[in-house]
Amino acid sequence: MNTKKLFTAVLSLTTACTICAQEATRKEYPQPEKMGPKMTEFWTPQPKVITPGNSQTNSAPSDAIVLFDGKDLSAWTNTKGEAAGWDVKDGIVTVNKKKGDIQTKEKFGSFQLHLEWLNPTNMTGSSQARGNSGVFLQGMYEIQILDTYQNETYIHGATGSVYKQTAPLVNPMRPLGEWNVYDIIYTAPVFKEDGSYLYRPRVTVILNGVVIQNNTEIFGTTEYIGLPKTKAHGDGPIRLQSHGDPSPSISFRNIWIRRL
Ligand code: MG
Repeated sequence: MNTKKLFTAVLSLTTACTICAQEATRKEYPQPEKMGPKMTEFWTPQPKVITPGNSQTNSAPSDAIVLFDGKDLSAWTNTKGEAAGWDVKDGIVTVNKKKGDIQTKEKFGSFQLHLEWLNPTNMTGSSQARGNSGVFLQGMYEIQILDTYQNETYIHGATGSVYKQTAPLVNPMRPLGEWNVYDIIYTAPVFKEDGSYLYRPRVTVILNGVVIQNNTEIFGTTEYIGLPKTKAHGDGPIRLQSHGDPSPSISFRNIWIRRL
């Protein structure tokens, strides 16, 4: 055998041995089963069946806590824990400005809240002094209520604002004498041990069927003067504002809440 043939033979043998070694070290591992449709279809637990509200009769969903059904304010007190003292008549409750704010006896964390309010046809005033009220979430964070139908004010003080923080996306207010409808979806905050926010509260507000706050982060308390404050808290009441402006009082009806 000449030198060239010998070199070729050695090279072939070396290559063959390398492949043999690779084959010997290749392991067989179990492979995932082939996916089928039923492998991602779970049947339990089924969502609880509830009866939705009836828009014709203004009834609440069957799992809601009715806070005002047109008859009395037994679910409410003033902020001192005494009788609420607002005026109930003909299925609606009207703010009594001499009695101050009212709040629910029950406290809530995250929730879906429904309420309706009416600016009377004899409304007076302008800007913030025209049908001013508000709904305080967990007693801390005000979603503004105001007659902002053809009544301009500072943008983050308009109806549907997170007061002095975030303006509403649009203004779908109805005119005097027509009921406005709020649906408010609120996610309660989570606090760190030092009392600062781990997760701030968030709110979605739908006014008359129109989204005006979309999962908006709430920065802290809704102060009239000064910046938002962080105050650690647990569950809190729904509070309705009796504002001191001299305009005629507004009315509420059909208030219910669902815990989330
Ligand atoms: Mg207000």
